[in-house]
Amino acid sequence: MAEDDFNLDEEFPLGDGTAEDSADVACPYCGETVSIAVDPGSGSFQQYVEDCEVCCNPWQVSVRFSEGTVRVEVARLNA
Ligand SMILES: [Zn+2]
Repeated sequence: MAEDDFNLDEEFPLGDGTAEDSADVACPYCGETVSIAVDPGSGSFQQYVEDCEVCCNPWQVSVRFSEGTVRVEVARLNA
C-alpha cells in the first residue's frame, strides 16, 4: 500500500470561493435523481419545502454547508 502518495492537502482546496451551488438528491417518492439549486449565502443550515420537479410531491429539504461542500437531504413532508 502506498498511502503516502495520497496527498490530503490537495484534495479539498479551501477558500477559493467556489462553494457548491447545486446538489443531486434522490426523490423519496419517485426515486428519480434531481439536481436542485442551493444558496450558500442563506446560512450554513437551511430547511425548506420544495416540490419534486418529476412527480410534484413536496420534499422537506435540509441543506448543510460545511468547509466548501454541501450536504443535502430530502424527506417526505409530514412523513
Ligand atoms: Zn419525485
